[in-house]
Amino acid sequence: MKNIKDYNLEELKKELISIGEKPFRAEQIFKWIYQDKVTNFDEMTNLSLELREKLKQNYSLCIFNILKKQESSDGTIKYLFDVLDGNAIETVLMKYHHGYSLCVSTQIGCKMGCKFCASTGIAFARNLTAGEIVEELLAVERDQNIKISNVVYMGIGEPLDNYENVVNSIRIINNPKGINIGARHISVSTSGLVPNIYRLAEENIQCTLSISLHATNNEKRSKMMPVNNRYPIEELIQACKDYIAKTNRRISFEYALAKDNNDNLEDAKELVKLLKGMICHVNLIPINKIENGAFDKSSNENIIKFRDYLNEHGIVATIRRELGSDIDAACGQLRRKNLK
Ligand code: SF4
Repeated sequence: MKNIKDYNLEELKKELISIGEKPFRAEQIFKWIYQDKVTNFDEMTNLSLELREKLKQNYSLCIFNILKKQESSDGTIKYLFDVLDGNAIETVLMKYHHGYSLCVSTQIGCKMGCKFCASTGIAFARNLTAGEIVEELLAVERDQNIKISNVVYMGIGEPLDNYENVVNSIRIINNPKGINIGARHISVSTSGLVPNIYRLAEENIQCTLSISLHATNNEKRSKMMPVNNRYPIEELIQACKDYIAKTNRRISFEYALAKDNNDNLEDAKELVKLLKGMICHVNLIPINKIENGAFDKSSNENIIKFRDYLNEHGIVATIRRELGSDIDAACGQLRRKNLK
């Protein structure tokens, strides 16, 4: 059965035409699913009984079941969802003063093998479809009875390795007739799949691109992130410069500080050199220690020194608030524990 949430609005119009229906029905269906958040076709009362029956016979609304929910003392909630084929995925809800931010997964498992990541032990099973990514958001909104204001594509999986589905899910989330979250409130993270950074620059989507950088030279970065062997730092930085030139959007660089690995002043100096002249922001992340993980968390003193050095040398840097540190908040941790 086809998942009706896999279609963006234009695609849904075409799909409805292909089954003999009028295209304006797509906007009605979009409203029922994304604004009224119905969970079955019978509730779509402005559609004829015949059309509702046709939809029931041929399409699913892909409603996830919650397998597990962990709530942190700071309000962060980590969900483990049953995606209806025997697989499970994680989604994390974070509460900020400006609203609710959701971190979505894009794949079941991940192929990238970053050494600091808890997902590394989880074999890649498959890509999530656009509709499944969108359902992560709807399932949390239903459960909490809230409206999410920001979406970050930073959960399990490499978003740009599931390019079409991720871009399509953004089109649904961003559409004013869909979930209606502004593109500037949507952030897509990548470990550095250079060709797809160029592709994304051409999409005319105003979302924020976030690069998991984590090191300033190829030797260190390749040890942390095998993707760097395919697309070394010089190519990655050039792609970022071209992305900024094309989109006029600021890039966010993620830098997870690991003790005695990439957290000393020499690293900060190299980082300043690397990013000089780019419109960017550096997000410093105190690494979450993971079971059997190769890296330890940096000291608070080092993290602050690192940030101050960047700020004093013209690179805007902030330290990410550690949300959910009393639950399993590094990506992959909740799922891995449950699958043991
Ligand atoms: S950090 Fe992201 S890209 Fe790297 S292994 Fe983990 S989930 Fe995959």
